[in-house]
Amino acid sequence: MSRPASFFSGVDSVCAVGFEDNAPPWRNEQLWQAADNTLQYLIYHYQYQLDQIIETADSIKILVASIDSPLDWLCKNTCAQCFAPCCLVADVSYDFRDLVFIHLTDQTKPPGQPRRKAHDVCRYLGPEGCLIPRFERPWICTWYICAVQKKYLADHDEILRTQLLSVIAQAGMLRKQMEDLFITIVAP
Ligand code: SF4
Ligand code: SF4
Repeated sequence: MSRPASFFSGVDSVCAVGFEDNAPPWRNEQLWQAADNTLQYLIYHYQYQLDQIIETADSIKILVASIDSPLDWLCKNTCAQCFAPCCLVADVSYDFRDLVFIHLTDQTKPPGQPRRKAHDVCRYLGPEGCLIPRFERPWICTWYICAVQKKYLADHDEILRTQLLSVIAQAGMLRKQMEDLFITIVAP
């Protein structure tokens, strides 16, 4: 694989690109593509050193899969009646860990950040809810459980509430490990 034109000096560039004005990174198509190309290049270049990171990414995938249906159930019972749905009002975005996870687990690459500019509605929102699988969403769309949802869980299924929070915490910890390992390898 040839070195992409967008390749600067490694992962620091991927992290830095697009942070101007405190906006979410890689908001325009060009920066998004640059980040994507750079990650592809790094993963290809270091492919023989990534076994442990891929294992970690797969463990995250298993954890997230285990809470997919319960979270859908929770959303159906709370978000559907919400006056300010997150998918309409929140400025969610992909971060570096999201992109590393998506690349390492061979998910379909999303075409860009959820919002092209401030105040847009998330581009992945459809009439029936989110159009993309949970693994391809920004992590915040999975870990964020609002006060209304916490109360709903406490009122309806305390065991599930504890399980969800525990799995989300475990997956969050593994995501950090995955990122740390990745950076250690590609930007020693
Ligand atoms: S997570 Fe909470 S705030 Fe967000 S849409 Fe659902 S109910 Fe509303
Ligand atoms: S990616 Fe999906 S879940 Fe996340 S804000 Fe957009 S529509 Fe909502």
